[in-house]
Amino acid sequence: MPWMLRNIFRNILGLPATRKYPFEPVHYHHGVRGRLQIDLARCVFCGMCELICPAKAITKYGSKKDPDVTIHYNPFACIYCARCAEMCPSCAIYVHEQHTLPADRKITYGREDIPFSEDELP
Ligand code: SF4
Ligand code: SF4
Repeated sequence: MPWMLRNIFRNILGLPATRKYPFEPVHYHHGVRGRLQIDLARCVFCGMCELICPAKAITKYGSKKDPDVTIHYNPFACIYCARCAEMCPSCAIYVHEQHTLPADRKITYGREDIPFSEDELP
């Protein structure tokens, strides 16, 4: 019992161990694999990301030369492994060091969406 007193007093008198979110900003560690962003202006629609994705979170619709070629990215299926970003030949996919915000819909990327705004990102 006496050995517990030290912990009890430390917890009563010490600073809170938790962050006062959302009143305090979250500081992410370097290298965190967070939000995924696809820059369609750089995308050549090669389909490599679709092939490499282990979670089948990216789907390319249409052929490369098709003007309506579209990429669908499903943040709900994504496991944020960043393989797509590593393999993309045109560096069109990058991973931000911020976690994904809550989303209630699938995000679709396509030529008609250029330029997409930050508000549309998951
Ligand atoms: S791998 Fe890169 S260039 Fe190829 S389709 Fe995916 S995002 Fe576009
Ligand atoms: S981060 Fe991984 S799971 Fe998510 S879309 Fe890219 S390859 Fe697929």
